Amino acid sequence: MSKLSVRDLSLAGKRVLLRVDFNVPTEVKDGVTRITDDTRIQESLPTLNHLREAGAKVIVMAHFGRPKGEVNLKYTLRPVAEHLSKLIGKPVLFSPESTGAVPAAMVASMQNGDVLLLENVRFHAGEESNDSVFAKALAELGDVYVNDAFGAAHRAHASTAGIAAHLPQAAMGLLMERELQYLQGELTSPARPFVVILGGSKVSDKIGVIKALMQKADTFLIGGAMAYTFFRVLGIPTGNSRVEADKLNLAQEILDLAKAKGVRFLLPLDNMETQEISATAQPRSTGLVSPQKGVSEGWEAVDIGPATIELYSSEVAKAKTVLWNGPLGIFELPPFANGTHSIAKALAASDAVSIIGGGDSVTAVKQFGFGDQVSFCSTGGGASLELLEGKVLPGVAALSEK
Ligand code: ADP
Ligand code: MG
Repeated sequence: MSKLSVRDLSLAGKRVLLRVDFNVPTEVKDGVTRITDDTRIQESLPTLNHLREAGAKVIVMAHFGRPKGEVNLKYTLRPVAEHLSKLIGKPVLFSPESTGAVPAAMVASMQNGDVLLLENVRFHAGEESNDSVFAKALAELGDVYVNDAFGAAHRAHASTAGIAAHLPQAAMGLLMERELQYLQGELTSPARPFVVILGGSKVSDKIGVIKALMQKADTFLIGGAMAYTFFRVLGIPTGNSRVEADKLNLAQEILDLAKAKGVRFLLPLDNMETQEISATAQPRSTGLVSPQKGVSEGWEAVDIGPATIELYSSEVAKAKTVLWNGPLGIFELPPFANGTHSIAKALAASDAVSIIGGGDSVTAVKQFGFGDQVSFCSTGGGASLELLEGKVLPGVAALSEK
């Protein structure tokens, strides 16, 4: 890997500006803000602890919500500082301002190993506009820059990209490094067969990913709502299933591309269909589909069926590398979760390098309890898709070469 890593830096006594993704879900109850899922904070701990143990002074930058460039205490990071203190078992300093004399004075009194969290960088309009004056003001607080905010790396903002130009060294954090290792490194020349499982709500969201991976994958296993746009193209009845009627040409183009490249592009053999989207629905199987018989009129396909589960599981069992993006059904509702659950189970049992990218797919795999039986779950939704499309992420491009 060509980018500088936090592991390459000499850190003792250095003021390290660390960008993390602390954009955690919260709820307000009786006027108190509570973090409902601290996964993102947990994910930053390896880098944070690495820096502390190496004797750095850690100045943490993060964004929270969408305050649109104005101070709005609804989006203060103060509760996150308190939560982080508990996680690392040591007080975390909090600066109510992210640049200027206030944090500068706090930094000046920091000891090696101390941690200071700056207020939400998005309280300044210069963050999202990647303003160089704001980037420079942030940079003045530190000696080196470390970016561990993979989930924000597809944005060219002051604290994710611009800041790097104002410091002599800009390195990736440990989480960023792992994300790049799995979503880029492992997929450069993947162990074969390389199987891509694609599902989720729309073909149109995944076009770029499909086209990029078509150059590398041996087999695609298609599920989720996107399957039914392909059904429509093939003349298989879709009933009330979700179809992107304005994307039929694109779907046809993908099928042609797969044929031309000799890539296997598998669609569901059968599906579960329902008349009602609810947690008490009792879906039934469509049976094997064909142009004569598909999803029933008035019914909606909400999951892959048993024959498809068997086929896809056997493909996963034979694979050496599997990349999965997009659930295979409406997994949020238990009656429609069987396909996604079964394939997650097959993946957990396989010894392939298994990589889950995409927000909802990661949620599904973790929810079914297979999170630590796969090789890697990406923390970035949009960022992971853009990386898989082969795009250069501004937050990565800004880092120093090794
Ligand atoms: P990811 O976040 O992993 O990239 P997407 O955002 O593309 O995935 O899609 C996730 C959503 O797709 C889920 O909310 C799921 O309910 C929905 N979905 C999956 N299959 C179907 C289906 N057959 N019909 C309607 N929605 C579906
Ligand atoms: Mg999603």
